[in-house]
Amino acid sequence: MPDSITIPGLERRLRVNSIFGIGRNYVAHAHELKNEVPKNPVIFIKPVTSIIYSGDNIQIPFQSQDVHYETELVVAIGKTGKNISLQNALNYVEGYGIGIDVTARDLQAQAKSKSLPWTVSKGFDTFAPISNFIPAGEVDDPQQLTFELEQNEEIKQRGDTSKMIFPVAHLISELSHFFTLNPGDLIFTGTPEGVGPIHSGDHLRATLCGKNVVLEVGVS
Ligand code: MG
Repeated sequence: MPDSITIPGLERRLRVNSIFGIGRNYVAHAHELKNEVPKNPVIFIKPVTSIIYSGDNIQIPFQSQDVHYETELVVAIGKTGKNISLQNALNYVEGYGIGIDVTARDLQAQAKSKSLPWTVSKGFDTFAPISNFIPAGEVDDPQQLTFELEQNEEIKQRGDTSKMIFPVAHLISELSHFFTLNPGDLIFTGTPEGVGPIHSGDHLRATLCGKNVVLEVGVS
């Protein structure tokens, strides 16, 4: 675990601060887990100790028998804001990358069945691999991005951000009405359909298509 958790590509400016996750932000994924499509974003938080980088390994915890990948566009916040308007929200973005919201699906299912928080299932060490990030100025429209995940060189997920239920600007505005956003905050914006299990020895490669953004991690 590095001493200083930085955002690759933005490391001179940003250390990782709060990590927000959004649940059920694509209709087809909500349906594959038999969840309702939410009326407002479903928000959770991952601890900073869950961050790892390309070249690192996701560690399967002994408490789970069913750990899943969820490939997601990740937004890095570049300045402090509270009660941010929808119109102004994208001005708070410093960069874009790709990440895997690693989830202990069995522990999450137990928590959901008891109406308990998802924190443990989402928050283990190594459960938030992040790619390098590109500056926000290199992305004309965050709702016109596509991304992919390969597991052992087989494509398992294809994402299209135009299919988000709540677009990036909406997520930033909504989060900022609950929490002050700060430089180095990361938002995992939700996974499309196609989630599945990972196992020791797997190789995962996530890319933001057409951009120089790649995340490659192993599983141990
Ligand atoms: Mg997720």
